[in-house]
Amino acid sequence: MRCADHFGQLAGFDFAVTRDQALHVLDQFIGERLPLFGTYQDAMIEGEPWMYHSHIGLYLNAGLLSPIEVIRAAETAYHSGDAPLNAVEGFIRQILGWREFVRGLYWLKMPAYAEANFLQATRPLPDFFWSGNTDMNCLAQSIKQTDALSYAHHIQRLMVLGNFALLAGLSPQAVNEWFLVVYVDAYEWVVMPNVSGMALFADGGYLASKPYAAGGAYINRMSNYCRNCHYKVTEKSGEDACPFNYLYWDFLDRHREKLGNNPRLGMIYRTFDKMAPEKQAGVSADAGRFLEGFDKAG
Ligand SMILES: Cc1cc2nc3c(=O)[nH]c(=O)nc-3n(C[C@H](O)[C@H](O)[C@H](O)COP(=O)(O)OP(=O)(O)OC[C@H]3O[C@@H](n4cnc5c(N)ncnc54)[C@H](O)[C@@H]3O)c2cc1C
Ligand code: SF4
Repeated sequence: MRCADHFGQLAGFDFAVTRDQALHVLDQFIGERLPLFGTYQDAMIEGEPWMYHSHIGLYLNAGLLSPIEVIRAAETAYHSGDAPLNAVEGFIRQILGWREFVRGLYWLKMPAYAEANFLQATRPLPDFFWSGNTDMNCLAQSIKQTDALSYAHHIQRLMVLGNFALLAGLSPQAVNEWFLVVYVDAYEWVVMPNVSGMALFADGGYLASKPYAAGGAYINRMSNYCRNCHYKVTEKSGEDACPFNYLYWDFLDRHREKLGNNPRLGMIYRTFDKMAPEKQAGVSADAGRFLEGFDKAG
């Protein structure tokens, strides 16, 4: 087979390719998963890639479904008592709110948006983004799932993959290219605001009022990935500590000049400033060691 060693798998291909099939996917979502969409939309569970999400982004973006018909289908489920308000409101907000917003932002800000790099992040993408071979289980799970299915849900894209890219200072152009290549629903107008604006804060805060940065505790709260990880999420420093923990503080410290006056980060900077100097030095040493090893591995 041609390109057999490229990222992505053909086995088990079962995406809809016609309008009728896409409508069937929508019907199935509305009937079977929408009622629990609101409750579980941020959750990540090992071995459960699809959860209660709709999996219709690709059909919306390719024109097999229209945003208004999808919104109306969810509204109808609410009015007929088949789905609760938190699910229907949460779902409609993703489409009417986020999807339309990022589309408008792309057309407003291009072509300059493609060059945005507010935090001057330049690190190349590590090789493990193409294999999933890393000891960090949250990343391994999200990347391997992406390889197998060309799908990851929003929190995996934002708070695992994007968060890591942000904290590690990966180049926005390299990260954009990866997201554009690996997902079945990827088009530049939707990838770029999500990657450069939402995940990497490369637009300096045009899309988001503060970076979506988080330590391991957030990933542990939203998933069961940490149970099977080589690293310990409760440890903050040293070889066994979850890298998200020290990378998070190091990221904030490294970018104090640009982020220090952000009112939404004031309390977090005050927490860092209250840490003992040896603890602060430990954060910087752990992050330096991790990133150096990571640069050498490529
Ligand atoms: C770094 C990053 C990269 C992303 N890349 C893409 C991409 O290439 N293509 C894409 O369509 N979405 C992208 N998104 C947004 C979102 O993650 C996907 O739309 C969603 O995961 C698709 O799965 P789903 O259809 O099951 O969505 P659901 O969780 O069921 O959500 C319903 C629909 O809401 C819309 N939606 C929700 N959030 C967003 C958002 N932030 N931007 C635009 N639409 C949204 C989508 O059309 C989605 O199908 C990205 C988000 C991030 C953080
Ligand atoms: S311990 Fe850290 S690296 Fe491991 S899965 Fe949890 S958040 Fe990810």
